[in-house]
Order: sequence, then C-alpha cells, then structure tokens
Amino acid sequence: MGEALTSLEVEIRRRIAMAGPMPVGQYMRLCLTHPDFGYYMTHDPFGPLGDFTTAPEISQMFGELVGLWAASVWRQMGAPENVRLVELGPGRGSMMLDVLRAGHIVPSFRKAVVIHMVEVSPALEQRQRQALTGSEIHAEWHRSLEEVPDGPMIILANEFFDSLPVQQAIMCADGWHERVVRIDDDKRLAFGHARDPLPLFDQMLLPPQVRAAQIGEIFEWRTDQTALELGHRVVRSNGAALVVDYGHLKSATGETLQAVCAHDFVDPLATPGGADLTAHVDFQALAQAAESMGARTHGPLDQAEFLRRLGIDSRGEALKVAAPHKADEIDQARERLTNEATTGMGALFKAIGFSHPKLKTGRDRSIRTRAGRTSRYPATALAKR
Ligand code: SAH
Repeated sequence: MGEALTSLEVEIRRRIAMAGPMPVGQYMRLCLTHPDFGYYMTHDPFGPLGDFTTAPEISQMFGELVGLWAASVWRQMGAPENVRLVELGPGRGSMMLDVLRAGHIVPSFRKAVVIHMVEVSPALEQRQRQALTGSEIHAEWHRSLEEVPDGPMIILANEFFDSLPVQQAIMCADGWHERVVRIDDDKRLAFGHARDPLPLFDQMLLPPQVRAAQIGEIFEWRTDQTALELGHRVVRSNGAALVVDYGHLKSATGETLQAVCAHDFVDPLATPGGADLTAHVDFQALAQAAESMGARTHGPLDQAEFLRRLGIDSRGEALKVAAPHKADEIDQARERLTNEATTGMGALFKAIGFSHPKLKTGRDRSIRTRAGRTSRYPATALAKR
C-alpha cells in the first residue's frame, strides 16, 4: 500500500471489517457527504484551481439565462406575490447571483422572490452566504428539499443530480447482484459483488430495455428521493423546475461512476473523500419519478439548444458591448457552453423541465428588457421539438 490512507478510507475499512462489503451507493455517499471527511464537506472544489468547473463558474451568461427562464415561468404561474426560488446544490452560489441579476429585468419578479438554498455542506453554505451578502433578498438554507416550506415555487438544479449516490448491480449467471466495495487479498479497496442475487430486481426496478443484459453488464440507479419530492412540489405549488445535468436520455446499462481530481480522471477507490465522485443522470428515471407525482416533463433538450433558445447569442453580444476588453473571454465561454461536439458541454449536458400539468407554456409571453426592446424568453424553450 505504501501511501498514507485518507481519514475516510480508515473509516470505510473499519465499517467493511465490521459489517462486510459496502454497497457502491453507500461508498459514494460517504465519499461525498460524510460529515467530517466527505468531499463536499471539506472542499471548495470549483474553478480552475479546484477539481472541476461548472457552467455557472464558466460564465455569468448561464445563470442570467436561467434567471430569465425563471421570471418567465413566474409569469406563467400567474405572477404570485411571493415565490420561493429554490436551488438544489448551489456550489459557490454563483448561479443564484446571476439569476438575481437577470431578475432586475422583471422588477416585480425580483420583488416576489425569497431564496431557498438546499445545501448539505456547511463549508459551501458559508461560501453561498458570502456570495449573497449584499443582495437584499431574504435567503434561507436547508439540508434537503423536504425542509423547504410550501408555497409557490420554482426549483433550479445544475449538476446536482449527478452528485447523488448511485447504486450498482452487475449481471451474473444467476441474475443481478449488487456491486460492493470490499477489501481484496492485497488489502486494497476493490469492487466486488454481493454473494446473493438481488431479490425480484428485474421485475421491480429494471426498465424493459435493460432486462436482457449480458453477464458482466452493470446497471446504475439512485434511491435518493429528491426527484420524487421535486415532482411533488411543482405539482403542489403550481410551479416548475429546471434541471441541467449530464447523462443518458434512456435508462441503459453501463458503468458511469467516475472520480475527478484536479481536472483529471482518477480511480474512484484511490482517495475516498479526496476526489469528486459523480455518475450520469438517468433522465428517463428522473422524469418517471417526477411524473409519478403528477408533474409534466418538458424536454430534455441539449444544453446548447436550450441556451440558444433563451438568447445566449444576444446576451453575449450585449456583454461584449458593455465590456469590449473581455470580448474574447465572452466568446470562448459561449463556445464552451454551447459546444456540440460529442464531448462538448452543449451536447453532453441536457436541460429538462418539470411543471404542474396545467401550467401554461404558450409562446405569447415576453420579457421587456431595460433597453425597452422586447426579447422573447419563453418557457417553451424547453418544449419538445
Ligand atoms: N450547482 C453548482 C454546484 C454543483 S456541485 C454548480 O453548478 O456550480 C454539487 C452541489 O450539490 C454542491 O454544492 C454539493 O455540496 C451539493 N450536494 C451534493 N450532495 C447533496 C445532497 N445530498 N444534498 C444537498 N446538496 C448536495
């Protein structure tokens, strides 16, 4: 072994010694959110000097366009006097700041907003509080969406669902077995699988297209309840939600658990708590969860298309007029957010919307910008093509 173990690895080994091999989902949860040693609990992982970067950290345009989307949805909700603007996993708080800046375009919307940040990490909560200092809007913090009080609500989540733990099962000769983390003969952490098959797994959980899997194929799923709660809340509050993340549109087999450290892929078992662990979002499963609570799904759309429909090109040009010395930077950021190469953010990331089924999504709504010009930022930016 040679290298020093992380504190979390000592803890994980202790748990495996006591209770036996640990399901992958439990391993991922400890790595990310163990109260003392979890990755998010101890790190500010974002930006060029951190481990990875995200759309709101790349450019203010992203959050601003999301803000216009939110203002437009608020109107479609009937412009309630108070609206809870909820963000799941707000990271450094950058997106919420940009959303609020865009809110200046619709002052009555900005006036209606109360902010609710759902954040598990006390360190990142501090960071978000600092970011929002100076915005005169009331903000509250919660550990889960369940804790957010009822009321008209718009929910936002960028790169949140990919950081929720995934469980894994592997197809063996006698059926699906849960994948686990164990200690191997060389005393290293290693993947393995539980001795007994998962009872009734294919009847209960698996979508039909996955049932005919070959031996060795892996299926991932999430047991986290946030998607259900999200569906429940948008229906109960006559509201809407916008989720932007990367993943696959249809449920499928394949291992997507990955670890990133200092902008590079690393072995997910190498430094528990020291690297970011994520897995693809299964958009079909996400939509099914929200729909099972009565919500209507809009999209998903590629991020590039979504941002274009919301007007990223004109927003970029406006920013360049305001800050000509930053023109190259703005062009690069726009290119990065909308890059449609297979590994580009514009194609890899998807935007999916959820709403109360009766929320009107007509094209006739528009937002008047400060300059007096009318630019359209319809919620139909998420409608099916
Ligand atoms: N949305 C931000 C950050 C994405 S990283 C951005 O785009 O830059 C994931 C965020 O979700 C972090 O803020 C992390 O602390 C938070 N998070 C992870 N798991 C969570 C959980 N179970 N409950 C609440 N927040 C969580």
